[in-house]
Amino acid sequence: MTVELETLAQWLRESHSAVFFGGAGVSTESGIPDFRSVDGLYNQTYDDPPETIISHSFFEAKPEAFFRFYKDKMLCLEAKPNTAHQRLAQWESQGHLAAVVTQNIDGLHQEAGSKTVYELHGSVHRNYCTHCGKFFDAQYVKESVGVPRCDACGGLIKPDVVLYEEGLAEEILRGAVSAIGRADLLIIGGTSLVVYPAAGLVNYYRGNRLVIVNKAPTPADRSADLVLQGKIGEIFEQIQIA
Ligand code: NAD
Repeated sequence: MTVELETLAQWLRESHSAVFFGGAGVSTESGIPDFRSVDGLYNQTYDDPPETIISHSFFEAKPEAFFRFYKDKMLCLEAKPNTAHQRLAQWESQGHLAAVVTQNIDGLHQEAGSKTVYELHGSVHRNYCTHCGKFFDAQYVKESVGVPRCDACGGLIKPDVVLYEEGLAEEILRGAVSAIGRADLLIIGGTSLVVYPAAGLVNYYRGNRLVIVNKAPTPADRSADLVLQGKIGEIFEQIQIA
């Protein structure tokens, strides 16, 4: 282990309230593209940029085009948790990590075994009829032809994901802010830290062990106590804390 990896391992061993704050980069090693890497969704060709397509007004105006993109690019139901997800679940079960705060909507942290997960942007696994409120799983949406409709009333089904122009759920926000505010170690990973208000949550951290694990530089690197540049799954794989 390098000095940096050993430092992170030691800080994790000493922590009982660490929080991991992550984004799309955590799931790229599971095969789900992020938004801003060179092979991310922003650099692929669509009629509109992803930020436009997954906005509230676009969903309302052009649900067909929304679901074409959403089912094709955001509903990656065959993806499996990678080492980053698995290590975080392990550190929680060992009593070092208190919570995962994620901008991801793929549900891979829970699949890996993480228990306290604040999903700031919702989850593809929850979908509701906008008319009668009936619940549908992600498979139902994936298998639907065109726009998914409720099998009870015919209403439009909306994924429980926070689209651009929509606000974050208050209860989840409160939980995330509280966990970050109490943390003695904050690890930020796999996020460009440019999507607000989510990225602003890291400002609630009051401790002096701020770690960044990311492929590309982030705006928080300058204020970090430790920066590990590279693939998060490969980096976490080398961290031995037991
Ligand atoms: P982003 O695409 O803006 O940034 C991803 C960051 O992760 C980049 O800085 C990139 O360098 C880094 N990265 C990529 N692969 C990595 C790896 N293997 N190891 C370490 N770092 C890696 O993503 P964001 O900051 O999360 O913001 C995009 C928004 O889009 C978020 O709201 C997110 O919810 C959503 N999104 C979610 C998913 C998902 O659920 N898996 C996928 C795409 C986008």
